[in-house]
Amino acid sequence: MHPSAVLHDTGWGHPEHQGRLRAIASALKEDLVALHGRVEQVAPEVASVEDVALVHDAALIESVREVVDQAREFGQPVAIDADTRVSGASWEAALGTVGAGLEAVHGVVAGRYRNAFVAARPPGHHATPGRAMGFCLFNNIAIAAASLRARGEAERVLIVDWDVHHGNGTQDAFYEDADVFFLSLHQYPHYPGTGAANETGRRKGEGFTLNVPLSPRTPRPDYLRVFRMALETAVARCEPDFILVSSGFDVLAGDPLGGQLLEPGDLHETTLMVMEAAEDCCGGRVVVFLEGGYDPQRTGAGCVAVIRALAGVAMDV
Ligand SMILES: [Zn+2]
Repeated sequence: MHPSAVLHDTGWGHPEHQGRLRAIASALKEDLVALHGRVEQVAPEVASVEDVALVHDAALIESVREVVDQAREFGQPVAIDADTRVSGASWEAALGTVGAGLEAVHGVVAGRYRNAFVAARPPGHHATPGRAMGFCLFNNIAIAAASLRARGEAERVLIVDWDVHHGNGTQDAFYEDADVFFLSLHQYPHYPGTGAANETGRRKGEGFTLNVPLSPRTPRPDYLRVFRMALETAVARCEPDFILVSSGFDVLAGDPLGGQLLEPGDLHETTLMVMEAAEDCCGGRVVVFLEGGYDPQRTGAGCVAVIRALAGVAMDV
């Protein structure tokens, strides 16, 4: 996590608020005994505009910078659209969070970390190359995937997205790209409206997007079974050198913006499935990015479950 991520202020009553990262930090602190000696907290460098431009248009980057300048001038959050707001601290937070993702993936390639969890805020998976939306400014995970490719550190990347909402921004970024496979399980129909099963990629990218739309309240065993099958299909088709995960904790039961039934232990299991696949195909290289999750306590418990899996700690210790 970049320290500025917590300063991004979306204003009073906004679901994607500053307390989310505090709830995660306090849940992890309570779990210190189990995680002790197995987890290292890293404060990364901010990313450059050139890094962000690996995915985003210059016009979008400039418009985010301008609206953040306005918010700084007014001394209060400014809306980009009905859902997405920025404060004077959001530019630093957005570049810091992109930087956290880059440090994670390049650190794993360099052997500094075995795997990593990025406490990303603002989140990223709704941000398309040309548009900030759905609480997201820059697409942290897409930039990380593009950077792995640009540096020649991975030929093919698999992005697995289990946020309850469809990751339309990530899909758009790689829709015509055969080297980044996008797998998304999401509630459907639901925000942002995309993610039908017949959205499978275009041109060279045809067959390299796999959308798995799910009904509200999908039973947990069904979810896990479908997840395993979809992951196997994606891994076989992509043969990735690196696996990235967009982990939205709004897929947990009780989330105010969700409608699914998963428990933190289920995300421990999905994380283990991803790690197992990564062990078989790419030396265990996995980085998990925080996306949504709007019940702070449940999001904290979900993060503990995912980080325990990444750290090789069972759920019941
Ligand atoms: Zn979401």
